[in-house]
Parts: sequence; structure tokens; C-alpha cells
Amino acid sequence: MSFEKLGLNTKTLQAIADVGYTTPTPIQEIAIPLLLEGRDIIALAQTGSGKTASFILPLLDLLTRGRAKARMPRSLIVEPTRELAAQVAEDFAIYGKHHNFTVALLIGGESFADQEKKLLKGVDVLIVTPGRLLDLYERGKILLNDVKMFVIDEADRMMDMGFIPDIERIASLLPPHQTALFSATMPPPIRHLTQQFLKQPEEISISHSTKAAASIEQYIVRVLEKDKRNALRTLLKQQNLHQVIVFCNRKKEVDVVCSSMRTHGFNVGALHGDISQSARNDTLKAFKEGKIDLLIASDVAARGLDVEDLPGVVNFHVPTNPEDYIHRVGRTGRAGKEGKAFTLVSPHEEKHLALIFKTLNKTIDEYSLGLEVKAQEKKVKPSPQPKKPAPPTKTVTQRHEPQPQPQQVEEGFGDHVPAFMQVK
Ligand code: AMP
Repeated sequence: MSFEKLGLNTKTLQAIADVGYTTPTPIQEIAIPLLLEGRDIIALAQTGSGKTASFILPLLDLLTRGRAKARMPRSLIVEPTRELAAQVAEDFAIYGKHHNFTVALLIGGESFADQEKKLLKGVDVLIVTPGRLLDLYERGKILLNDVKMFVIDEADRMMDMGFIPDIERIASLLPPHQTALFSATMPPPIRHLTQQFLKQPEEISISHSTKAAASIEQYIVRVLEKDKRNALRTLLKQQNLHQVIVFCNRKKEVDVVCSSMRTHGFNVGALHGDISQSARNDTLKAFKEGKIDLLIASDVAARGLDVEDLPGVVNFHVPTNPEDYIHRVGRTGRAGKEGKAFTLVSPHEEKHLALIFKTLNKTIDEYSLGLEVKAQEKKVKPSPQPKKPAPPTKTVTQRHEPQPQPQQVEEGFGDHVPAFMQVK
């Protein structure tokens, strides 16, 4: 299958050729023709599948019909986080470079003055986080009655972040329009949302475990909590890993790991929700340009971060939600490239690891650092093997099957203060 066969216009095809894509990814192959036909779609796909292009490319075609009016965007893309919104705006600039469409990015934490000027002239695409959009709508800065295409990206993430009422409100403000909803999972509130607002949607499911299995080498490293920082340093050196994202479960842990790695001479940056937007943008830019080797991040950064050729990901903590594991490791091995993902597992995290094994329907190979912590590891009871290994899954178009609802990651440590937080 080639991009030419999907029915995209020549300017769009030229931009695809410029960026060097030769074949559509499975989600693109199915979603693009449906969106070009004007159908509503529900796409069960995650970042790394090529989903962003699967809605931007047909949107570019749709926008060639008509012109934008003042304060009345013609299409609306809603993203759960500022980073994702900014990333989609960057992708739009790449794929839309031979078109002449105006994009406005309305995200919390950024000055509104420039964006308002654009809005006043009329924008073709408005990329937003839900709260910011509603805020500006309530203040009469935006009119939504010319929206022809509504994209809800990472719907399950929006749900985790409590944005579903905002999405419902936005959907209820729109005139008749086409909707594309993307989600890695389909928990009941998202299912309900699609039933309320989508018109006879076509449902596309791109199996998530395939990607994690295909191009990413995954390992667990059993280690005591107190030895994790040493283990991280050893691992990076042994594996000769540069340009790595290190994921922590909580914001405080990001800061602690970041300053520890900095003390040991690593070139690091931190990314989490309490860091100002401009600092987050600068860090991300420096990381993408290779000026920072290690990005220590919370899950805010896990979804949608698109960094070219990222060779590795390290989970400093086992994510409590298996879906987060899939999203985190999906930051490496993008679009079929090889990558390695390591997860440091302390004894109290074995239960979360067992959940991940269950979700993946397989265990993950163990990597030994050869440190003295090995002796202590023997005490750790390994997570049980899942009963039946699943056959490898293929990309399919299918009806939805119920998915487990992701758990919220709690902030704070509760009663537990991890050993690495204790001053030594
Ligand atoms: P996404 O799932 O939208 O986050 O995209 C994941 C990565 O795949 C991004 O780095 C894209 O640039 C890349 N990508 C998207 N479509 C293709 C394609 N057809 N061929 C190769 N790479 C692609």
C-alpha cells in the first residue's frame, strides 16, 4: 500500500515524501480513507502507531474546501497535555508545509496575545487543551460554530486527568461536524462519550501489544530501592545509552533522580507538571537537539513525546498502571526502529510488575547488572508467569472488546517514603 492510493492531495503527498515516509502505518491505511470519506472514527491506537498523521493528513485535504473566518476555527484538535498539543502543532507544520493554513495553539501556561491575533484573523486549525479552550469560549474570545472536524486525541488520558466533562461540554457546543476519537483503551466513560456524540462511527483497533513486542527489547532489572540510582548509572554506562528518557512515577522523584544524576556528572533535564511551561519547552527542545542526554520525566511526558531515534527508555519505577508501561516503552523503537527499555524493579514493586506481565500476556527477560545487589535479589519472589502466552497479535479492524480501566496514579507517597528519598 502506498500513500498515493489513500486519496490524499498532491501537496500533502509532497510533504509526506519530503519527510521520507514511504508506506502508511496500519492505522493510517485504515483511518485516512475513512476520514476522507467524511466518516466518524473511533481509533484504538496509541502514540508510536503513526496516529497523528492519520488525522492530520486527511484534515489537510478537508481544509482545502473553504476559508477561515475571524474567531471561528474550522477544525479543533483537543489534547490532554500541553506537550502533546505542541507536538501536534509541530507535526501539522511538517505535514502542512505545502499548504497555507493557519494554526493556533491554545494551551495553559502560554501567553495568549499572539494566539488571539491569529484567532482574530481566522484560523484553520485550533489545537487546544480542554480547560484553556472552555476558558476562552466563556470569555467570548472564540466561536465554535464553524468547526467541521473535531479530533479528540488520547481520550483515555483525558479521562485519567478528569477532562471528560470538559470534552462533553465542548462537543455539545459544536455544530454538525465530523469526529475522530483516538484512545489507547476504551473504558466505559469513553465508550459512553462515543455513543453520545459520534455518528455511526467506524471502529478501528490497532493492537497495542504488537508494537511493544516487535521492535523494542524489554528487560527488567531487579534491584533494591536504595540501590536504584547506582543501578541507573551502571546500566547507562554498561549499555552505552545516550539520549534516554528515565521515567519516575511521581514529580518529587523526578527532582530527586535529576539532581542525583546531575551530581554524578550526567547531562540531565527534568520534565513534570509542576515545572513552568517555558522551562518544559526549553528542556524538551534541548533534549531533541541532543544538548541534554537524559530526560527525567513523569508520565505527563510519556504520552506523545516524539523524539527521533530514541535508543532507550528506563523506568526508574514500575508504573502502577500497565497502560502507562506500554506508553512509556513506546517512546523508544518508534515507527519500527530498534530500541531498548529497562525497568528497575524493587521488591515492593513486584505486584505492579505482575500486572504488567498479565497485560502483556508474557514475562520480560531479566537483565543482570552484575552488581552486589544481585545477592539480595535472590530474596525477591519473582512475579508469576502468566498461564498461557498469547499468540502474536496482528493489526485488525474489529469491534471493541472491553478493556480494563486505567487506575489513577496517586500523588504523594502515602505512608511509604522510598529509601532513595532518604538523605544519606
Ligand atoms: P505518532 O504515533 O503519531 O506519535 O507517530 C509516531 C512516529 O512515527 C513519529 O515519529 C512519526 O514521525 C512517525 N511516522 C508516522 N507515520 C509514519 C510512516 N508512515 N512511516 C514512517 N514513520 C512514520
